[in-house]
Amino acid sequence: MPQAPTTHSSRTNREESLRQVGAGLQNLLEKTRAEYVGIRRDAKDQIKEATKVTEPDKGNAIALPEVNMRRERLLRNQIVAIEAAIEKFKKFKAGGALFGICEECGEDISIRRLTHSPAVRLCCDCQAEMEENEKRGMR
Ligand SMILES: [Zn+2]
Repeated sequence: MPQAPTTHSSRTNREESLRQVGAGLQNLLEKTRAEYVGIRRDAKDQIKEATKVTEPDKGNAIALPEVNMRRERLLRNQIVAIEAAIEKFKKFKAGGALFGICEECGEDISIRRLTHSPAVRLCCDCQAEMEENEKRGMR
């Protein structure tokens, strides 16, 4: 068995970790999709309930699906992000090294960050900067 040269060991470790992160993506996608479908179903039921109510406290009943809408939007964005990450991971496995790299600055995203959120597209610094810009843009 040939031994990996020590100079490349940190790269090899990173690749190994990236493979582990990538292997969990499909599972995450299915879980997120299931929650998304569940929320859509709940929202439909609640809208049905809300339209049944003829009492004056209608406002309260209608507010419920709105909470779901926000969660639904969040989940939908997550699904898109996970699908994009799966595509990247496929390229990574085929020899392209796109996976786990910040789309903004091109630096490696830390394994800890990727383990926590595998579909993340930016490194910590760029994410913070983007959120800062978004906050400013909203005003
Ligand atoms: Zn970055």
